[in-house]
Formats: sequence, structure tokens, C-alpha cells
Amino acid sequence: MDSLSLTRSDLHRQKAYIDGAWVEGSTRIAVLNPATHEQIGTIPNLGALETETAVAAAERAQVAWKCELAKERGRILRRWSQLMLDNAGDLAAILTQEQGKPLSEAKGEVAYAASFLEWFAEEARRIDGEILAPHQADKRLYVHKVPVGVVAAITPWNFPLAMITRKAGPALAAGCTMVLKPSELTPYSALALAVLAEEAGVPNGVFNVVTGDAAPIGDVLTDDTRVRKFTFTGSTAVGKMLAARCMDTVKRVSLELGGNAPFIIFDDADLDKAVEGALIAKFRNTGQTCVCANRFYVQSGIYEKFAAALAGKVKAMRFGPGIPIGEADCGPLIDTKAVEKVGAHVSDCVARGGQLLVGGRALEGAPGFFEPTVISEVSANSMLCREETFGPVAGLVRFEDEDEAIALANCSRAGLASYFFTRDYGRVHRVSEALDYGMVGVNTGIISTEVAPFGGVKESGLGREGSRHGIEDYLEIKMVCAAI
Ligand code: ADP
Repeated sequence: MDSLSLTRSDLHRQKAYIDGAWVEGSTRIAVLNPATHEQIGTIPNLGALETETAVAAAERAQVAWKCELAKERGRILRRWSQLMLDNAGDLAAILTQEQGKPLSEAKGEVAYAASFLEWFAEEARRIDGEILAPHQADKRLYVHKVPVGVVAAITPWNFPLAMITRKAGPALAAGCTMVLKPSELTPYSALALAVLAEEAGVPNGVFNVVTGDAAPIGDVLTDDTRVRKFTFTGSTAVGKMLAARCMDTVKRVSLELGGNAPFIIFDDADLDKAVEGALIAKFRNTGQTCVCANRFYVQSGIYEKFAAALAGKVKAMRFGPGIPIGEADCGPLIDTKAVEKVGAHVSDCVARGGQLLVGGRALEGAPGFFEPTVISEVSANSMLCREETFGPVAGLVRFEDEDEAIALANCSRAGLASYFFTRDYGRVHRVSEALDYGMVGVNTGIISTEVAPFGGVKESGLGREGSRHGIEDYLEIKMVCAAI
């Protein structure tokens, strides 16, 4: 990490953060740079005991934090957001080093992540209750919104900053406190956030970061009765398993799980815009986002033109390490398991008759890299259409009419993001209504913003993050019925 020559080297912490103190562990876990597979540092391997200590600290701290004026909680969150922006260069460098995305994308993530703290700083003051018309003349009915309590958060490696702030922002704004377990693959971004939280004035115990092996920490976060809410972003299998455990203590649960986004191009689409949208929706973060286009459905009248144009652009993409800036459009995949999965999806497409237009191979001598790939004539039954690929592979399936496209797109247990391109006004409405997804992008490949609710239907999750709805998951409704 020293090789990054950060402006503020104190942002790179190799200790956990519990109750306002930087904590060592008796054993440590190595953290690798996915572009080189070289070790960039270590983190404490904490377990159940330290996690319980963090939960106890969060419970203690919540007593005062929930009584703080909302305006003051908002002020602290705004300072935290500003500190992220002030230190954007260092945060981006730390992020790219541990996650792999090109530095320009990492800078974009810093701004995106900071925007959630700013947004919820503003929302803190808008947590209003209701006075209801009473059901009896001598009664008065009040509805209060109160913080849920201690929140446990488990976050993934693909957006090491933003997946944290869109949970911590609303949680802290609502008056909750948090114990966070970041991905063990990308802990340094989370720890840098903790440095800035402290600097912004977040009181001890309000935001805690526990690092280490997932299972023992996860066991406490899902089982401890003091944790009242569990929020998770990650794979569907792990999310389902952890959510089921939370039911034993009837925690509130929010889940942001896998997607398998369809991306439909109708004959009447603006070809250039569709290609531009496809590139950003597919190759951002090297295909490793839960809203990444996973299955391309292309109508037969535009199929050849779209395939050729997309293949041309993808062929020109440069891939390599995320630093130095500006030299790569695509970075490495997170680890060798990811490279193997992407390879398996490509082989399966080809075995079912798919034709490789560009790429198709893992790079020899550079273990984390897979060539940006386009495959045409992909079968709708291929693995690539049934599971999230999480890599830089665009597989094109041919379709004939609107009903067929909708049926293909909805044929999934996932329901996070979906996209389509058309210039037909009526079709914009028909198709966006028919798609069984939490989010629909029309003539755009980029839909995420702190202003709008992010989340999925079906097995893609529960709850929404961002927007004015995002704070609701951290609030309980409490009714007071008073006789006068
Ligand atoms: P991904 O495919 O994004 O790596 P995971 O679901 O494996 O998805 O990881 C998302 C988060 O869940 C990470 O922080 C990871 O450490 C955590 N995690 C994975 N397995 C468990 C577990 N058994 N208990 C608690 N957390 C887990």
C-alpha cells in the first residue's frame, strides 16, 4: 500500500475499529491485490468475542445517539460525506489496490458513496410521525417513527465504499448504530471510512468495523438478540442462509442479492445509444455488479448490426491493472474462482452453438484477467442466461417479437435490474410495466443514484436502498393510543 504514496497514509489502517478504538487480533488475514495476486497487507482475524464487544458498544452508544437532534446527526453525516470528497484521491487508490477497478471508476465510486451520506444527512430531519383521526372521542392516536436499534451490516467486495455508505447513511440518520463486517477481500476501504467517521465526529461505538473470517462474525451478527436489524449485500445463497438464521430472533432484514439483468434491444432502437448503454451496463467494474447486464436479447432486424458494433467497441477495450489511471477500461476479476466461473460460462455458450466474436479466454501469465468477450447466437438455455456471470462477457440471444422478449427477460428467479432500448413511445410503457424487476432502465445503461430506490423483487432481495424510502428500513413504527 505504501507504493501508492497516499497523501494521507493514516487512511490505510490495518486494524479493526470497535468502540472508537483501533483493535489488533491475535491472528491476521492477508489481503491481495487482484491485479497481481501479491499481498498488499493484512487485517486482524477477529472472531465471536470481538464481534460481541462491538455489538455491546453499539448498544451502549445508541442510547445517546438516538437522542441527538436529527439536525446534529445530519451535520455529522454531512461532514463525513465531505471528508470522503476531500480525500477522494486516497480513497480511490486504496479501493483500486484492493478491488481492481480502474482508478477513474474508483473515483466515481467515492463520489457515489459520499452522495448517500449527504442524502441521508438531509433525510435525518424529515423523519416525521402522524397524528391520526381518533376512532373514539376520548382517544388520541399518534404514530412515531423510531430507530430500529443496533444494525448489523455485511457488505461485499464489488463496491467496497458505496455498499457501506448506503447502509450506514440511513442507519445513522435514523438514530441506529452499526456493526459492519466488510468483505475480507476489500477491508481497507471500510477502515478508511472509519478513520473519516471518527474525524467527522461520529461518536465512539456508533460505527464499528469488525474484520476477519466471515462465519464466526456472521454467527454473532445473525444470532445476537441485541442486534435488531440485519442488512446484507452479497450472493443470493449466503443472503438466504443468513436471513433464515435471523428469523430465530425475529430481526428486521434487508437483502440486496444477485441479479441476472436482461438487456433488450428492439429493432427500432437507436443503435449507437444501445451500444453505448450495453458497454456501460456490461463492462463497468469488469462486469462485477449486481445490476450488470447479464443476458442480451436482440431483435432479429437489428441483430447483425448490433453484434458487429458491440464487438468492434469491445475489441478496442484496453484491459489491465486499474493503476496507472487512464490505461485500462477493464480491470482484473476479484479472484481465480471468478475467472474460472466466467470461463465455464463461455465454454458452455460455445458448446451450445455460440460464436465467439471477441475474446473468450483467461489471460495466460496474468491470473486475474479475462478478455472482454462478445458471443453471438447464444442459446437462451445457456448457463450465462440462467446464472449471474459476474464477468466481462456479453452473450447475445436472438428474438423475434415483443412478447417473446418479455417472456425471456422474466424467465428468472432474480428480479433486480433490467434494461431495454426502443424509440417506440407505447413500447416504453408496455415493456417497463411488463418487466418483473425492481428497476428498469429505458434507453440507458446506467440507473443507480442516491435519489432513486435501489432494490429487487423475487429472489433479488428485500427492501430498498437510497431515496426517501431507504431510511424506512431503519425505522420502526410505534403507535401511542392515549385516552384523555
Ligand atoms: P460475493 O459473491 O459477493 O463474494 P458473498 O455472499 O460470498 O458474495 O459475500 C458477501 C459478504 O458476505 C462478504 O462480506 C462475505 O465475507 C460475507 N459472507 C460470506 N459467507 C458468510 C457467512 N457464512 N457468514 C457471514 N458472512 C458471510
